Amino acid sequence: MGKNYLKSPLKTIPGFNAKLSNWSHIKIGSDDGFVYLPVDYHQLQICLRNLPDIGLRPLPLGAGSNILFGNTSAYALISDKHLPHFWRIEHNRVVVSANYNITQLIMVLAKNNLGGLEFLAGIPAHLGGLTHMNAGAYGHSIAHFVHQVRLITLQGEDITLNSEEIIFNYRYSSLEGFITEITLNLPSIPETEIRKTAKSYIMSRQAKQPLHYPNLGSVFKNPPHYFAGQLLEKAGFKGKRKGGVAFSDIHANFLVNIDHGSFQDAYELIREARAEILETFDIALETEIKVIN
Ligand SMILES: Cc1cc2nc3c(=O)[nH]c(=O)nc-3n(C[C@H](O)[C@H](O)[C@H](O)COP(=O)(O)OP(=O)(O)OC[C@H]3O[C@@H](n4cnc5c(N)ncnc54)[C@H](O)[C@@H]3O)c2cc1C
Repeated sequence: MGKNYLKSPLKTIPGFNAKLSNWSHIKIGSDDGFVYLPVDYHQLQICLRNLPDIGLRPLPLGAGSNILFGNTSAYALISDKHLPHFWRIEHNRVVVSANYNITQLIMVLAKNNLGGLEFLAGIPAHLGGLTHMNAGAYGHSIAHFVHQVRLITLQGEDITLNSEEIIFNYRYSSLEGFITEITLNLPSIPETEIRKTAKSYIMSRQAKQPLHYPNLGSVFKNPPHYFAGQLLEKAGFKGKRKGGVAFSDIHANFLVNIDHGSFQDAYELIREARAEILETFDIALETEIKVIN
């Protein structure tokens, strides 16, 4: 290991050498990562405060459904996995830990007749990642439901921001640091209705997305007035393969890991697609996925 990950006081934080392909939903990543697994917010603070001293940038990790790992040697990955996991009702709002899986959360809240998040059902992601990315689908986005976000800043401070203090744009938030809790404003909806709506969104995803292969959802953001998938299809990228990775033949904006794909395979496809779309349509595609390299 080139870096001293276990240097004091970081040596008090649980962590281990990790095969990063196990930490990304597309199952791509090197064998020489290092993942910290803090068990409480104090340990998380220690990580964030001390990593710069050993020359590493902290990278919060939720479910890994939007991260493509290349060379991660400049980063220290910090997983939400062992942090406190909870939800509770407080002053008519719902406070949820950032590491809550979204589909499980929707189902738990449904039992309490609290809904609104059904459009996110079926996404293999955690609430913290979804909030950081301002995830959205079917004309809705999570920002609409966020009342407050608690996070540990990159300096290690534990702060709470009201939604007015946060900039949310299309697949963007100004949140920097490690999100620990999200307070949501959710409408009252009967459980049966929530379950029905969530099920219809899950079925719609199953019908339109290549979920049988490891993937990261949409690779590129939709540029203004266009759909990235349509541009990719027109430019001939639907089904285009490099090594073990391909643009899906079901949904052109999904990269799928068909057969032991590598970062290089995925990166080359992304690079080629961007260059081709720029040349053909004069449109600069921006990746929605986080490419760590
Ligand atoms: C099958 C599939 C379908 C998808 N469908 C959609 C969709 O409909 N709409 C949509 O918007 N996205 C979709 N996505 C993409 C992805 O699920 C979202 O971007 C989601 O927000 C990522 O959450 P995560 O927990 O997996 O985050 P990760 O992939 O772990 O991380 C994503 C980014 O968020 C940061 N992050 C994660 N957790 C935290 C935290 N606690 N605090 C601060 N930063 C954090 C990471 O550092 C990284 O920059 C889909 C992905 C898949 C695989």
